[in-house]
Amino acid sequence: MKSLCILGSTGSIGTQSLDVAKMRNYRVIALTANKNVDIIEKQAREWQPVRVALLDEKSAAELKIRLADTDIAVLSGVEGICECAASPECDTVINAIVGLAGLRPTLAALESRKTLALANKETLVAGGDLVLNAAKTHNVDILPVDSEHSAIFQCLQASPPNKALKKIILTASGGPFFGKTRDELKNVTVEQALKHPNWSMGAKITIDSATMFNKGLELIEAVRLFGVTPDMIDIVVHRESVVHSMIEFDDNSVLAQMGVPDMRIPIQYALTFPERYPSPVEELSFGKFSKLTFFEPDYDTFDCLNICREAVAKGGLYPAAVNSANEKANLMFRQGKISFLEIGERIRRVFDVTPDKKDFTLEDIFEIDRIAGEIVL
Ligand code: NAD
Ligand code: MG
Repeated sequence: MKSLCILGSTGSIGTQSLDVAKMRNYRVIALTANKNVDIIEKQAREWQPVRVALLDEKSAAELKIRLADTDIAVLSGVEGICECAASPECDTVINAIVGLAGLRPTLAALESRKTLALANKETLVAGGDLVLNAAKTHNVDILPVDSEHSAIFQCLQASPPNKALKKIILTASGGPFFGKTRDELKNVTVEQALKHPNWSMGAKITIDSATMFNKGLELIEAVRLFGVTPDMIDIVVHRESVVHSMIEFDDNSVLAQMGVPDMRIPIQYALTFPERYPSPVEELSFGKFSKLTFFEPDYDTFDCLNICREAVAKGGLYPAAVNSANEKANLMFRQGKISFLEIGERIRRVFDVTPDKKDFTLEDIFEIDRIAGEIVL
């Protein structure tokens, strides 16, 4: 039986992870979130974890009062979240925190030798070798939760290790603005950008899907996870989100992983790998689809794809820099402070202020995060 710590338990991936945990009868040792006291209190009462943590100190103080009749330890701040990630009673950490905020907890989990089921792609994009080396040093696995990377991971199990792999084909839904020109995107609203055609997700990733920065992050995530060069990764727009990604071999044979768009399949596979079990997700009914469609991405309209390709080609701190700039610009758009097209324009500013160094530390990442915050304003 698995013993889990779920970081970001109140969010979209966090709550679906608890669905899977219930199905599989797993133990939940620790839960963490930003500041949603109501939801985490409910989760804590249901799951009786050893410890919970909220980032926000005030909310944590409130939670402590509410859980006073239980034995559950209530922690706070980044340190509290890291303590949860390092819980001695747990074997697997699901990181479903959104953004760079997940980086320290990711490292805390790896350093205490937990298997890491990773949804929080931003930490892998920004952390790069810091994260990969921590996994290597402590001899633990990072298993992908992101549906595309789970698909690639599943396809790769049918291929001889690192042999004959020619290409990774990353599928993208294209988001709510597929087929639009830049001119048509000038005045789109937050509400329109939040209407994703196929997936129900947290606000940040939903906007990232509309700008296609999400696919750029996923390109870098794939480079990190599968040790391939960026030019080995093609992106194809696939409107139905049924083919979750593909790999191509030297002989031009292509393998795809398919299923209805439901994150509980990749979440469960990250937890049960290499075993498979029944899931609550419905079967893929081919009769329902009269067609599956595929298109080349529109790199002129969705400059965020170019931004991420450029960042990963430059290497070093550039992926961290564009990730941080995007986090700030994405938020400013949601707050109504900048227009949709300004997101990419503001992110581009960070290229000029990123120190060009190959080796970097955790402090360098937080420093570029601070600089990115100023430059996008
Ligand atoms: P969400 O906004 O629904 O949930 C985020 C969770 O993180 C919440 O529990 C929140 O309380 C917590 N959190 C927010 N800010 C925090 C901070 N500063 N410190 C600590 N905790 C914080 O987001 P989501 O859609 O569940 O996405 C989570 C991660 O999974 C993201 O990295 C996203 O890119 C990735 N992902 C999500 C989906 C999806 O379907 N939602 C699919 C693939 C990958
Ligand atoms: Mg994805």
